[in-house]
Amino acid sequence: MPLRSQHRHNARIKDFAATVAEIENRLRHLAATGCRGFDCSETSLKTIKTWEHKITSAPETLKVIRNDLGDCRRCRLSGSRKNIVFGSGDPHAKLVFVGEGPGYEEDQRGEPFVGAAGQLLTKIIKAINYTRNQVYICNIIKCRPPGNRNPMPDEINSCFPFLGRQIKAIKPDFICALGTFAAQTLLETKESISKLRGCFHDYMGIKVLPTYHPAYLLRNPEKKRDVWEDMKKLIKELG
Ligand code: URA
Repeated sequence: MPLRSQHRHNARIKDFAATVAEIENRLRHLAATGCRGFDCSETSLKTIKTWEHKITSAPETLKVIRNDLGDCRRCRLSGSRKNIVFGSGDPHAKLVFVGEGPGYEEDQRGEPFVGAAGQLLTKIIKAINYTRNQVYICNIIKCRPPGNRNPMPDEINSCFPFLGRQIKAIKPDFICALGTFAAQTLLETKESISKLRGCFHDYMGIKVLPTYHPAYLLRNPEKKRDVWEDMKKLIKELG
């Protein structure tokens, strides 16, 4: 199959996978709210019809996606979070930064990267001649794991369809994946961040540059040099 058709074919398969994941999420949500058995009422069928419309009609907006996310209860993290951290910045950004998940400060404020690691990310963004308002900043998961533990696979699976839709709506040219979880989830690999960083990969036709997470840089300042090398590549590609 020619490469372009292969890309389109893969994109369609991923769209379909995202749809199935969303249906599963919604059924889980119904189950979590006490619903038993399959509900074939007129109201439910009408709701399902709107999903089909969303899939086949005009490209969706971040507002619609945020609305669909609602007061999300799709995974256990909803029980301990204070705020959902959806993402912030330019809805049509050329460059999207994807981190791991909210920490304490982010959970308190409902904004991504506003704690110590966030301040370092702001400096990195300035160093590539952008502002936070000119890029989009989000995370693999939208709720803070208790004690900032690593996200679990089922939590990532519940949340990722929404991030996939956000990225599709924003249509960036570049994604900078911050740290292991962002890079491994987007690129569907178990390869280490030290192997992945420093070159461009592909996510749905978007160029993905993995680099070290700012929180890791706070603990290992000697790695800032590597991130700067990565950012220079990004600057060059961004033109
Ligand atoms: N670390 C992350 O990965 N994301 C945030 O939003 C904050 C800290």
